[in-house]
Amino acid sequence: MGRTSEEPESESPVSQGSKTKLRFQNSSVRPGENTSEQTGALRGKFSELGKHGSKLDRAIDTVLAGGVKECVFLPSGRKVITVVGRLGDEFIDPEKPYCSCSNFFFRVLGGREETCYHLMSYRIAAETGKLDTVKFSDEEYGSYLAATIRDVFEVIRKSVS
Ligand SMILES: [Zn+2]
Repeated sequence: MGRTSEEPESESPVSQGSKTKLRFQNSSVRPGENTSEQTGALRGKFSELGKHGSKLDRAIDTVLAGGVKECVFLPSGRKVITVVGRLGDEFIDPEKPYCSCSNFFFRVLGGREETCYHLMSYRIAAETGKLDTVKFSDEEYGSYLAATIRDVFEVIRKSVS
């Protein structure tokens, strides 16, 4: 569960998001620590994604840092998937496919690129059992969504400025 009772109600999903980011940043400043073998294995397994260039490496780093989160709300079973990127959380919907990042908006929807590295991260995580599943209750959906959307807005603000 993503909250402790001491935390103020509105802050808990936010702090969870920033912990996630911290974790991701930590692992990206110290590359190769124990992960180079896994990186090589994933690069081999998903070699056909190598045509997307550096996105594959970025996606693998994200997966190994535990950056692909599947939030499951219970009892409805509703899912929200986020990927922690360089700038913060992005919402993705692998079935559409959709990603909230600006790369997806401008380049993928614009027809210049096939995918963004967030969606690629999800695919790698899902196929290798590295999805980080977090369970919430349905009552938490509103505050979770509000906090994550604030985070996504912040990312958008940073990426367009
Ligand atoms: Zn994306």
